[in-house]
Formats: sequence, C-alpha cells, structure tokens
Amino acid sequence: MTETAPANFDVVVIGGGPAGYGAALAASSAGKSVALIEAADLGGTCLHRGCIPAKHFLEAASVVRSIGDAARFGIKVTDVSIEFETTQLAKCSLVDGIATGLAKLLRTRKVAIIEGHGRLLGPGFVEVTSTNGTRQLSSASVILAPGSTPRSLAALPVDDVHIVNSDGFLNLKEIPARVAIVGGGAIGCEFASLLADLGATVTIFEGLPRLLAGCDVDVSRLITRSFTKRGITVRVDSMVAGHERGTNGETILKLGDGSTVHVDLVVVSVGRAPLTTELFGPTTELEMDDQGAIIVDDQQRTSLPGVYAVGDVVAGRPQLAHVGFAEALVAVGSLAGTPLPPVNYDAIPWAIYCHPEIAYLGLTEAQAQDRGISVTVKKDPIGGNSRAQIMGESEGFAKVICTTNEDGRAGRVLGVHLVGPWATEQLSGPSLAVNLGLNVNDLDTFLAPHPSLSETYGETLLALTGRGLHVH
Ligand SMILES: Cc1cc2nc3c(=O)[nH]c(=O)nc-3n(C[C@H](O)[C@H](O)[C@H](O)COP(=O)(O)OP(=O)(O)OC[C@H]3O[C@@H](n4cnc5c(N)ncnc54)[C@H](O)[C@@H]3O)c2cc1C
Repeated sequence: MTETAPANFDVVVIGGGPAGYGAALAASSAGKSVALIEAADLGGTCLHRGCIPAKHFLEAASVVRSIGDAARFGIKVTDVSIEFETTQLAKCSLVDGIATGLAKLLRTRKVAIIEGHGRLLGPGFVEVTSTNGTRQLSSASVILAPGSTPRSLAALPVDDVHIVNSDGFLNLKEIPARVAIVGGGAIGCEFASLLADLGATVTIFEGLPRLLAGCDVDVSRLITRSFTKRGITVRVDSMVAGHERGTNGETILKLGDGSTVHVDLVVVSVGRAPLTTELFGPTTELEMDDQGAIIVDDQQRTSLPGVYAVGDVVAGRPQLAHVGFAEALVAVGSLAGTPLPPVNYDAIPWAIYCHPEIAYLGLTEAQAQDRGISVTVKKDPIGGNSRAQIMGESEGFAKVICTTNEDGRAGRVLGVHLVGPWATEQLSGPSLAVNLGLNVNDLDTFLAPHPSLSETYGETLLALTGRGLHVH
C-alpha cells in the first residue's frame, strides 16, 4: 500500500528496521514531519529475519527442555513430538501481529510510510522507486538506516535448500536430522542450541580458536562445555574449504584439514554486511569504510551535511537492535538542535539466548588487562542459587570485573558477565552499575529478592566488598 505524502518533509528516513522506525518515532516526537521509506517489511531484519523469529524458536526449544524435565516434578508426559511447521506458523503469526502494531503506531504518530526503494541523491534529496513509479522527496535532514544482510562464503553458496543463511534458516518447515552451523558467533550458537533441543545432531565449525570470540573467555569455555555435554560437536580452528553433493540430498563438507562431514543442512552464519550497494544516486558520495559501512561522528552525522546514519549500516559499531534505537535518538537529538550524549559503546548490553543464556556488558577480563587496568575479578557459580536449583539449572555464573583500589580492595565495576537462566533479564542492575561508574561499595546495600536468580550477582558484589554471606 502506498500512502499519499507531501513531497517535502523535515526528516526522511530510508529503512524501516529498528534504527529507521526508531528514528521516525523520535523525529515525530520532536515535532518533525517525517517520511519513512521501506523497501520490504516494516520492522526490518529484527522483526522478520532476526531477533524475534530466532527468540520464538528458542522459546519453543525451552518448552521442549521443560517437558523433558517434567518427571523431576512428578509430572508424567507421554507422546511428545514437534510439528515444526506449526512452530513456523506460530512464529509468522507473532511477527505479523507485531508488524501490524508497528505500522499502526507509526501512523498514529503521523509518520508517512512510503513503500519503495529509497536512494539518496544528495543532501536533502531522496528518490523512491516502487511499482507505482519513481518520485522525489526533499527534506532538511535524511537519516540512512538500510541495515545489513547476511555475509556469504564463496565455499558455501546459499541455495536455500541444502545451504541456507539465517534468513533461510528462520523459514525452515522442518528440523533436519544433521545440521552443520558454519560460524560460532551469537547467531550460530543460538541456532545450534535450539536445533539440539529440537532433536537435530549439530556440529558447529568456527575458524577462530573459540566459540563466541567477542565474549569473556570464561563464557566461551562454559558454553563449549555445556554444548558438548548436550551432544553438540564444537570444532574450533576449523575452516570449511568446500562442499559437494552426496546421495539422498546430503551435503559433504570438506574441512581445511582434509576431513569430511556429512550433513542434511548447512547454515552459514558468518556475520552481516552493510546494505549500501544501491543506496546512493550516481553522483552521491559519502565517507565509507572498505566494507561499505557508513562512517559517522559521535552525533551520527555522515560526511554529507544534514545526512545521518544509524543502525547496522554504521561502520565499526555493534550490530544490535537496541544500538540502532540508541543511535536513532542521538541522530534526532542532533538534527533537532537538542543534542544527546553520544552512545556509550563501551557499555552496550549484549544478550545471547542460547542455553544456557548469556548476558553481559562492559569490559571482559582480557580487555581490562589489555588496557593496563589493575583489576579484581570475582566469579561465582549459580549452582548454589536456590531459584536455579528449583529450576534444575546448575550451569552458569556471575563474573564481575572491577578496578583494584590502591588499598587492594575492589573498586569501580567495569564489566559484568552473566550465564544461566534468564541471564538477559538480570542485566539491568549490572547495566546501571557499569554505566554510572559505580563502586562495589556503592552497591553493598543492594538487595536481591530471595529466592531469585539475581542473588548470585548480588552475592558476588557483596563478596567483593568483603561482606559476602554465602560466598567469599
Ligand atoms: C538471526 C538474528 C538474530 C538476531 N538477534 C538479535 C537479538 O537478539 N538482539 C539484537 O539486539 N539484535 C539481534 N539481531 C540483530 C538485529 O536484527 C539488527 O541489529 C537490527 O535489525 C538492525 O536494525 P537496522 O534498522 O539497522 O537494520 P534492519 O533491521 O536490517 O532494517 C533495515 C531495513 O531497511 C530496509 N531497506 C534497506 N535498504 C533500503 C532502501 N534503499 N530503501 C528502503 N528500504 C531499505 C530493509 O528492507 C530493512 O527492512 C539479530 C540478527 C539476526 C540475523
């Protein structure tokens, strides 16, 4: 559907993912007239091909685990089976519902939604092409939010049957028996975890020496141990060199060391590339890095006047939906003349929803050491936490990294790394501590409800002040 919209706006946003629709909402709240151009689906990768579908499948996987654990509570469950096609339909219905709500919200805020492909012709000039033809828009400010697309591997070209990327994976109608995940980052680990819960035999291939290379090394170790215990084969330092088609539709992967692995599906999850190839008119140039990502300053301004960039398309920034939201607020603050502090990329919350779940922010122990900071580190397992025991979850920890004061005691909280049930829901407290630069002594009256999972983080903080109850 195309909405009639005036040709001139205060703000034109290209891309309706979290960063773009976030910018449109923020600009509307700032009293601006706004057009939001979207070529495919409002909500972007996050809603249609990313966060939401992946977490829906992970929730299905968690239901399977709970059923598997039912006997511990004296609950007998028989004849459990998964109709993954129904899981897929439920995901589509959830996504459709959220997309409809989002479109309604944008319209309520008087954002003109324009379907079509947007191209920046120059500062203040955008061209939109759709099945209805081409039209031009002018605006004082343009915000570029075209997002990103899955990276590919020459050795494993995606055919959407035997070899898929995350887009194809999230559209599967059934769970294959044997799956290879190529890439052991956040997305690869989430997919491996849910596939294992849903009955597949999974192998992860990671070229680097460890899974989740961006995480604290203790997190990588625990996840590798846990995955291995659940039957997931983890092959690190392992490059896939090529493949050939076997019998019965199987794919034979050829590894760099000469070995082969036979699977029914290959999922390539090796990161995401910025979507800038068709974003500019023939004479429009702005500063980009060698990957085609847009370079911005700390107010999200590009090298062209009045042109901002936010979200996954921005060079050198974490590709996360909430980073897109934060950057959108900064860009709109800047164009509206009410500047906000720049996004603090040192304190971005990260969440990986595999089992066990991971949530962290701030420095890892290695990053703190690389910066030459003298640190005090405390890591406590969740095994002793009574809520975790009720849930039957024993894997995980709270790890807190602090500066060391001159008197040798723990000082400012620099990083918090949580692994275990509902870790992501527990990160807000640590986020306040890291963002506000709080000391462990500022936090010693911190009370976590009992019994609760967050008691482990609370106890770790108490122990760092020297007043630990259950742990020292
Ligand atoms: C499997 C998976 C799981 C993920 N899980 C999480 C998670 O749990 N938490 C998290 O924070 N992040 C997660 N992410 C990352 C998250 O999805 C992205 O960081 C986020 O979607 C980026 O938002 P964006 O608005 O920059 O771009 P996108 O969401 O990619 O949206 C860009 C939009 O712009 C449109 N567009 C592009 N070019 C044009 C054009 N020229 N004209 C008009 N429209 C255009 C596209 O169609 C798209 O709709 C996940 C990603 C994947 C793939």
